Amino acid sequence: MAESVELPGRLAILPFRNKVLLPGAFIRIRCTSQSSVKLVEQELWQREEKGLIGILPVQDAAETTSMDSMLSQGVGSESCERSSNAQVSTSDAHKVDGKNPSEVIHWHNRGVAARALHLSRGVEKPSGRVTYIVVLEGLCRFNIEELNTRGPYCTAKISPLEMTKSGYFLISIFYLLTCSEMEQVEQDPDFVTLSRQFKAIAMELIYILEQKQKTGGRIKVLLETLPFHKLADIFVASFEISFEEQLCMLDSVDPKVRLSKATELVDRHLQSIRVAEKITQKVEGQLSKSQKEYLLRQQMRAIKEELGDNDDDEDDLASLERKMQNAGMPSNIWKHAQRELRRLKKMQPQQPGYNSSRVYLDLLADLPWQKASEEQEMDLKAAKDHLDCDHYGLVKIKQRIFEYLAVRKLKPDARGPVLCFVGPPGVGKTSLASSIAAALGRKFIRISLGGVKDEADIRGHRRTYIGSMPGRLIDGLKRVGVCNPVMLLDEIDKTGSDVRGDPASALLEVLDPEQNKSFNDHYLNVPFDLSKVIFVATANRMQPIPPPLLDRMEVIELPGYTAEEKLRIAMQHLIPRVLDQHGLSSAFLQIPEDMVKLVIQRYTREAGVRNLERNLAALARAAAVRVAEREQAVSVSKDVHKITSPLLDNRLAEGAEMEMEVIPIGVNNHEISNAFRIASPLVVDEAMLEKILGPPRFDDREAADRVATPGVSVGLVWTAFGGEVQFVEATSVVGNGELHLTGQLGDVIKESAQIALTWVRARVADLKLAAAEETDLLQGKDIHIHFPAGAVPKDGPSAGVTLVTALVSLFSQKNVRADTAMTGEMTLRGLVLPVGGVKDKVLAAHRYGIKRVILPERNLKDLVEVPAAVLSSLEILVAKRMEDVLEHAFDGGYPWRQHQHSKL
Ligand code: ADP
Repeated sequence: MAESVELPGRLAILPFRNKVLLPGAFIRIRCTSQSSVKLVEQELWQREEKGLIGILPVQDAAETTSMDSMLSQGVGSESCERSSNAQVSTSDAHKVDGKNPSEVIHWHNRGVAARALHLSRGVEKPSGRVTYIVVLEGLCRFNIEELNTRGPYCTAKISPLEMTKSGYFLISIFYLLTCSEMEQVEQDPDFVTLSRQFKAIAMELIYILEQKQKTGGRIKVLLETLPFHKLADIFVASFEISFEEQLCMLDSVDPKVRLSKATELVDRHLQSIRVAEKITQKVEGQLSKSQKEYLLRQQMRAIKEELGDNDDDEDDLASLERKMQNAGMPSNIWKHAQRELRRLKKMQPQQPGYNSSRVYLDLLADLPWQKASEEQEMDLKAAKDHLDCDHYGLVKIKQRIFEYLAVRKLKPDARGPVLCFVGPPGVGKTSLASSIAAALGRKFIRISLGGVKDEADIRGHRRTYIGSMPGRLIDGLKRVGVCNPVMLLDEIDKTGSDVRGDPASALLEVLDPEQNKSFNDHYLNVPFDLSKVIFVATANRMQPIPPPLLDRMEVIELPGYTAEEKLRIAMQHLIPRVLDQHGLSSAFLQIPEDMVKLVIQRYTREAGVRNLERNLAALARAAAVRVAEREQAVSVSKDVHKITSPLLDNRLAEGAEMEMEVIPIGVNNHEISNAFRIASPLVVDEAMLEKILGPPRFDDREAADRVATPGVSVGLVWTAFGGEVQFVEATSVVGNGELHLTGQLGDVIKESAQIALTWVRARVADLKLAAAEETDLLQGKDIHIHFPAGAVPKDGPSAGVTLVTALVSLFSQKNVRADTAMTGEMTLRGLVLPVGGVKDKVLAAHRYGIKRVILPERNLKDLVEVPAAVLSSLEILVAKRMEDVLEHAFDGGYPWRQHQHSKL
């Protein structure tokens, strides 16, 4: 083994505490102790030609391994365990930095000669102590022959360990190895094998480092150019290894030993890098996954915040659970809900089904399982007052409701009947139901059943379907939030059935007190107790309600209102409410009774008061616009004053008075009138009515105008909107004796037309419709009968008498009386049969301005239901046979009666 550094016989020794400088390694140290500063000054700083110094590892007996300061402070040495070299042990401590001098310190007996590559001097403030920073390069090993610890710093007599031939060439860190001994070693097969092993493992390390840091290039060059035994030192010096191992490396003078030791260390280092890498990869993998999730969650949170929905998922589920706990579910349902919640907690929010499960649990938590409005002791008198106060008239109906409430008061849990209000729109069915709720002190919820054809609308969809949801009842209960509301099943007659099931049968279950204790909504999938709900239903007509359903309800019929009733309702209820809704009062708008009458006559012709209310609202809107405009005008004028009148400014600033006081100061006539006009209310007059509501839609002359030609008669029919006046028009054209019918007629009404025509044809002579008895009325003619309002479907037998009257009028060319309306079914033999809806029909005739009504004799009993005021304004004519009808229908009676009568 050879080294190309020429070592002097004696070297100044810088002890390194618990640290080894290996040949080929660089180190930067800061010298602060007295002895080290002295050493640097004398051996390096002050010399022109910088010499070498010896670095000697020392170890204190207490094995303190402080490595922070590289400066040695004590003395003593300890050899590598594997080294057979002797140790120098001394208690004659070389005192540096005042460290414990009595401490036994081991000086190692081998060191490394080093040279300074860089020196810098500094002065510590404020002590003024001089320090040096030295960059040293380890060159070669030496052996201590004799150590001298006396003097300002240690010196030692040394002998080289790695040199066999003198020759000191220095080219940067490269040393030319020229000695023959080295060549010998290099040819040793063991050395060659070891070298190869070392190279392989070193290459591997470099490869890994290259991959990691992309800085392996320089080391690779070293690997190609330096001899292996030097490389071994350089490699090992670059790792962090224990002091003992460093010593061991220092002691490995034999290149083979050194190589094998270095191979072992490099390999170990390699392994540790690999393990570390594996762990990092694993951690990185996990990190990147969790980071991804984190990022997504951050984004989600940002989106939620943007949407104003910034509660967290965890918080969300926790609050859901809390809500569920407070929902008061029965124990079996609570268990079911908990199971569902556990399932939900295991799911990711992005997972399909998460949302539906979440929504379902929300519903479970929101449903009022036990929450009920507290039922106070009912004050019957107050309830009656409430009903009277909210509704004009309807005496019988209010009495029935009062009875209903009285029973409830005596027996709160009584399974009372389900009240069903039947009547045309706008007659107060809904408002009566809500009054019942108010009287009972319960919440009110309206469930609209109009157009419900799917059973699932009542019972809900099973949760297996996408977009499934609970039925309207459960949804309504969720909205109302109590389990004992008054629930209005609105328009129960409008449910229909088709392939999607029969909602009426589901309603049967709802209304049956035996079954509704455990109402099963398909979506909810757990029974819900509906028995505390008070059901009230409304319908326009009774006939479409399936009999089993009708059987469960007690029908209360509400006829339409007379004009007089409407007027009272308008004056007492509608106008104050409408004004209030529009932010007005009678100080701003007044609608005199006459004008309300005109609105009723000219703009509405309905059984209820809905259109009337709408028209009054239109008046109120127009008034609101004017008032608002004026207020603006007044406030503008106030601004003008503010600028021009400092006196006024002061007063306003004190918050003194309103503009009414302020304005006259402006002495501007226009402003004054503006300001005062606001104080006088707007009074509706006829011109204003026309301006706001448009030209009158109806007038009393309509019937007269329409029956001005022969072939037209006035009938009374019954529709979902109450009674109606129905004109029938007949005309004849050249043809083959056919009967044409138009106006969306049903089968029954078509048959009535056939009967009517046959009856008239059979009595041509009796009625003197043609000269000869046998003449066929239809010869060369077609008859066309039309029921105007062609878009409205019509059916029923009650147009029989009207049809005959129209045909007789046509053939006799005699006008029917315009003030007379009729209703009645007719048999083929001419008998007049009773019909339904007489009360509504009579009311309709009254509304229409008809003065005389022809009714089947057997319908007379129905007139008791008609308000007396209406009856007194109408002439009721009774008909037993068709001839009676004709007698009443034509001006001056029926002239052929005698003759016809004798014939019959
Ligand atoms: P329906 O349910 O029969 O279609 P509503 O109950 O909705 O009718 O009534 C329509 C409007 O008419 C409501 O504002 C109601 O207060 C009012 N109304 C109906 N009848 C009366 C009445 N007899 N007294 C006071 N207001 C009434």
